[in-house]
Amino acid sequence: MTEERLSFQAEVSRLLDIVAHSLYSEKEVFLRELISNASDACDRLRYAALTDGALLGDDSGFRIRLVPDKDAKTLTVWDNGIGMSRDELVENLGTIARSGTGAFLNSLTGDAKKDVSLIGQFGVGFYSAFMVAERVEVFSRKAGEAQAWKWESDGRGSFTVAEAADEDAPSRGTRIVMHLREDAGEYLEDYRLRQIVKTYSDHIAVPILLGKADDAESVNAASALWTRPKSEITAEQYKEFYHHVGHGFDDPWLTLHWRAEGVIEYTGLLYVPKERPFDLFDPKRRHRVKLYVRRVFITDEAEGLVPSWLRFLRGVVDSEDLPLNVSREMLQNNPVLSKLRAGIVKRVLGDLVKKAEDAESAADFATFWDAFGPVLKEGLYEDYAHRDDLLKLLRVRTTASDGALVSLETVLGRMKEGQEAIYYIAGDDRAALEKSPQLEGYRAKGVEVLLLTDPVDEFWVGSVREYKGKAFKSVTRGGADLAKIQGEEPEKKDTPPEGELSSLLAFCKLTLGDQVKDVRVSDRLTESPVCLVADDGDLDMHLERLLAQHKQ
Ligand code: ADP
Ligand code: MG
Repeated sequence: MTEERLSFQAEVSRLLDIVAHSLYSEKEVFLRELISNASDACDRLRYAALTDGALLGDDSGFRIRLVPDKDAKTLTVWDNGIGMSRDELVENLGTIARSGTGAFLNSLTGDAKKDVSLIGQFGVGFYSAFMVAERVEVFSRKAGEAQAWKWESDGRGSFTVAEAADEDAPSRGTRIVMHLREDAGEYLEDYRLRQIVKTYSDHIAVPILLGKADDAESVNAASALWTRPKSEITAEQYKEFYHHVGHGFDDPWLTLHWRAEGVIEYTGLLYVPKERPFDLFDPKRRHRVKLYVRRVFITDEAEGLVPSWLRFLRGVVDSEDLPLNVSREMLQNNPVLSKLRAGIVKRVLGDLVKKAEDAESAADFATFWDAFGPVLKEGLYEDYAHRDDLLKLLRVRTTASDGALVSLETVLGRMKEGQEAIYYIAGDDRAALEKSPQLEGYRAKGVEVLLLTDPVDEFWVGSVREYKGKAFKSVTRGGADLAKIQGEEPEKKDTPPEGELSSLLAFCKLTLGDQVKDVRVSDRLTESPVCLVADDGDLDMHLERLLAQHKQ
């Protein structure tokens, strides 16, 4: 039996070093991570067996076992899920840095408690075994394959893979043996293991058994959380499930749990996180809602199940109508899927609008909007059907809002007599925008101007164009309609004689040449001598800069 020694990918090595040496508090989460992987492995085999029943052999009851051995000082986590081939062992547990690894390393704060919570979020869960183990052995046999493999490492730079002896390996699935460190003896105690499972893994739908005996009682409730009646689920259980499905370790900002029984039948358990997930602005804009069909996990990549502009949602949708043997390919353009999507969007927007319109929770809604507003704004130009609801959610900062977020309705209510447009100025930075000379005339007349600082702002104002009959208009455009607006008239400064003005204008045009289209006298400045504006019909200046950056 030849053994191969391989190096961890460099980032993985660094990660392991941190996991093993710096993260001491809350080590117990390693068990949550390994159980979570074991449960995923069972879900994946259950799905694969829908089309290839032979994969299950005569063992169709999924389970996860925890086996402490006080003599050997080992804790074993054992599942009969899908297992890993040799190549999968090598890739998944060592040579491929998962997309989260680098992000994890960059997010480390040095505060051990916070950093541990990042582990699950960044999908680097397996390595947390090294918080409690000085050596880890993984025996795995992939469902349907004859050969089992052994992976082993002490977490210091390299690992080995070799064929495993049949008697060491499970008949199917993965057995992870942790040789516990001296200071991790507590994880050999039944009561401690029970306590951790109850705390973090109660919602896992696969039974978790303690000990080797076949008749061991399952430690967890072992029924899918979303199938239980709401009245029987505690806030703590909802939260733990969010941590499990969402890989998020903040608290959920909003939890939505509902059953639909109409045209289509399904259960949704969705969460809005409190904090932005690290990959929120990943260019793929993938949503993160898992699709189940009658309790069987199908995929977390059901394209079209949730629109991109709701990609911050986490959770599961469990359909009663899709066929169990639905393949991921069959899901594309499936009419049930589009009905599910419509149901999800309606429910989520409905609840968000309620939150937004509740004056009591304005501050709470503002934290939500600051986190996810930029994503929802994408819906304003991508999803015409939901524009009205999204406009109800929309919050902006303005020259009159003193840093607070206000609704368009509020802005509308404060418009001046004769004001025909909702004015905005777009840029990267609010403080800089507030100093713009273009704002001076508006400020002098007490006209409120929206300060738009998200890159997507230019796109939605361009596409939505108006709100309740009032067009959105950039103050950097020419032809300021200030004269028509009633307001405090700015103090008239002494006007220079006509002739002198026109020779100054001529001088400016001559000097600047092709760099400007025109030079005009303006009534919009009160402090600054000059400002740059774009012509009506030309691109807004900030948009022009944005597009230039993206070389459009
Ligand atoms: P994540 O679970 O977020 O993908 P992990 O570090 O926890 O990250 O696991 C890495 C990968 O290793 C998993 O995606 C999976 O492919 C594989 N894996 C880990 N544990 C198991 C297991 N018990 N059975 C099968 N595959 C596993
Ligand atoms: Mg994991």
